[in-house]
Amino acid sequence: MRPLQPELERRRAAHLYRRRRVLGSAQGPLLQVDGEALLSFCSNDYLGLANHPQVVRALQRGAEQYGAGSGSAHLVAGHSAAHHALEEELAAFTGRPRALLYSTGYMANQGVITALLGRGDSVYQDRLNHASLIDGGLLSRAELKRYPHNDLGALAGRMACQRSGEALVAVDGVFSMDGDLAPLRELAELCREREAWLLVDDAHGLGVLGRDGRGSVDHFGLDDQAVPILMGTLGKAFGTFGAFVAGSEALIETLIQQSRSYIYTTALPPAVAEATRASLRLVQEEGGRREQLRLLIGRFREGAAQLGLDLMPSETAIQPILAGDAERAMAWSRALQAQGMLVIAIRPPTVPAGSARLRVTLSASHSTDQVDRLLEALGWLDRERLDREERA
Ligand SMILES: *Cc1c(COP(=O)(O)O)cnc(C)c1O
Repeated sequence: MRPLQPELERRRAAHLYRRRRVLGSAQGPLLQVDGEALLSFCSNDYLGLANHPQVVRALQRGAEQYGAGSGSAHLVAGHSAAHHALEEELAAFTGRPRALLYSTGYMANQGVITALLGRGDSVYQDRLNHASLIDGGLLSRAELKRYPHNDLGALAGRMACQRSGEALVAVDGVFSMDGDLAPLRELAELCREREAWLLVDDAHGLGVLGRDGRGSVDHFGLDDQAVPILMGTLGKAFGTFGAFVAGSEALIETLIQQSRSYIYTTALPPAVAEATRASLRLVQEEGGRREQLRLLIGRFREGAAQLGLDLMPSETAIQPILAGDAERAMAWSRALQAQGMLVIAIRPPTVPAGSARLRVTLSASHSTDQVDRLLEALGWLDRERLDREERA
């Protein structure tokens, strides 16, 4: 058995050690973090629904009706009327014949790719895809072919070399650490030409982009023919927990029969499904939340550009500030915390080496005043001095 401690020490020395913070409050702009009150810019609760009274009340009612747990897997006796109704509502929302609930997005991505592909097939992935897509590809035993970020030419070239087997292209609709969009129109066209599946993971687009929050596929005016497999998570803009895949009748039946991460796991609590039904209604009815988010994004980008910060080409709630090395990203995060702000540094291997960053995320629940306070704190970040201190 190799000793584990030296590797942990190596991580610490390289500023790559990961540490958990303990939250003592509900999600929202103001958090109790390790006992300290901080203004947070790192949640994926983009619409401010995680602690919405109607969502919380639906969870309570769901628990009164169905209890705390689902009791078993969907295919045993855990598929409740709450799950079933949510699936039908998600199918209608995404404009697809059917939707299937998974317990997490990580499992949904694994479950889809492994159900559709096997040895001899090929899975094409953008280099910046979420880890769950990459891991799903590895687990499927299909040949994993990664291409440079949003490089359609490179993808087309690689696809043209495939001689046999099924092909599936998987992408984040909105890239989780960069906030930019995948070129879905061109990807859909390429997949149509090559008769390949297109799987869009819209964890960060649903609720935020498109008509009534229908996500990045809708944003580009694409339908279920162009993007046959849509995966969404419920723990981000929807503010609850879980995930789903939406697509054709045959796709969903295939997943029910063959998707191991669907079959061999306990269904999520029905009360959570009830809470998600409430948040799905709010996502559609309260367009003002998306409007507020858009205003804050514009305000933040304008202010940050004036400060000369290195922003990335993102029009979404994810607004990273590039730091470069992990040590610098950590120093910036610490300096912001000293001013009462929580902004998390994202380091390799979550992002490529040399592209460590602060991942600022905005939410409709932030006020303009709070965004201004963040900008002010970023302005105070005397980056040159911090850098010198690090080197000293
Ligand atoms: C968060 C996320 C997932 C995983 O979803 P969970 O429900 O948290 O497991 C998958 N894909 C992307 C792009 C994500 O951001």
